[in-house]
Amino acid sequence: MIPFGDLRLQYQAIKVELDNAIQSVLDSGWFILGKNVAAFESEFAAYCGAAFAVGVGNGTEALQLALMACGIGPGDEVITAPNSATFTALAISAVGAVPTFVDIHPETYNLDPQRLEEAIGTRTKAIMPVHLYGQPADMDPILDIARRHNLFVIEDAAQAHGALYKGHPVGTLGDVGCFSFYPSKNLGAFGDGGMIVTNNPEIADKVRMLRNGGQKSRYDHQLLGMNSRLDELQAAILRVKLRYLDKWNERRRHIAALYTALLGDSTVEPPVDMPYAKHVYHLYVIRCKERAALQKYLAEQGVETAIHYPTPIHLQKAYRWLNLGRGSFPIAEQYAEEVLSLPIYPELTDAKVRQIATYIRDWHA
Ligand SMILES: *Cc1c(COP(=O)(O)O)cnc(C)c1O
Repeated sequence: MIPFGDLRLQYQAIKVELDNAIQSVLDSGWFILGKNVAAFESEFAAYCGAAFAVGVGNGTEALQLALMACGIGPGDEVITAPNSATFTALAISAVGAVPTFVDIHPETYNLDPQRLEEAIGTRTKAIMPVHLYGQPADMDPILDIARRHNLFVIEDAAQAHGALYKGHPVGTLGDVGCFSFYPSKNLGAFGDGGMIVTNNPEIADKVRMLRNGGQKSRYDHQLLGMNSRLDELQAAILRVKLRYLDKWNERRRHIAALYTALLGDSTVEPPVDMPYAKHVYHLYVIRCKERAALQKYLAEQGVETAIHYPTPIHLQKAYRWLNLGRGSFPIAEQYAEEVLSLPIYPELTDAKVRQIATYIRDWHA
């Protein structure tokens, strides 16, 4: 049996360090917004080459707080990709703005910059590119269009900790970058967690207030904020794990390269590493016309796979009111029927990768 993921393996590999970090928080008696959060914020900012980082409750709220800090709200529209986790759009809805979409580029699976300009309307205030599966979106043309139309760029980097675009870390390419530390992400907590990074001191200050009830100092509520604080336990755990992130990402890239080499002459479509990107392979996603049959066959061999994501955001029931029916974003819709995520995590052995690739090569629809 090869599971799609097993978070116990990572814990076991660095158990002593993690246990010590957890114990020291328990001994400190301080649990919310303390020394570990402050230290993790500066360590993560340095890792991203950002001037500021602010720890928040989760990735969805990181996006929501970034939008709030940019002054985006009711009456505004934000453009994003229809093939992301629906949480991307839910963050836009949470501030009262309306998500609008641009179809994806067939090779990158990310928002297609060629289609971006035609989607910009008078209410558009921001673009939220998603670095899906760990591969950065093509940011230069996106930033160029945003500059010309005076739009904010808020990066959804929830799947792309450590990814590079033309040598620059994601998160600092636009105005704000948003990360999730959901347990299975490349950098994952033992619960929920999130972070915004930015080089803009005003945005950083605003998010710092907004995440903690809009307070400037204790009991001085200056903004209509929320409660979206990172806790000390998660920060202490993430500080330990951050030291391993580059090593883990290199292992993911090695596994991906092995899959891609082995699947070269198979009937499935492997992902493409764009020349401008350092892809960190949060997910290794192939495409297959007979996906259901392949997934069933792999399950029979003991290989667990997953689908990211089976329903494009605009076709979710929650977004029926947008009146964007089938056919609105044909590439995203076609890919939703064809994508299949194979197991990829640092602890997965080369032997298992070879075994999975052999099953796929031997399979006939
Ligand atoms: C995980 C994820 C989110 C949401 O992050 P949470 O921490 O689960 O709230 C948003 N966007 C993308 C692309 C994600 O993968």
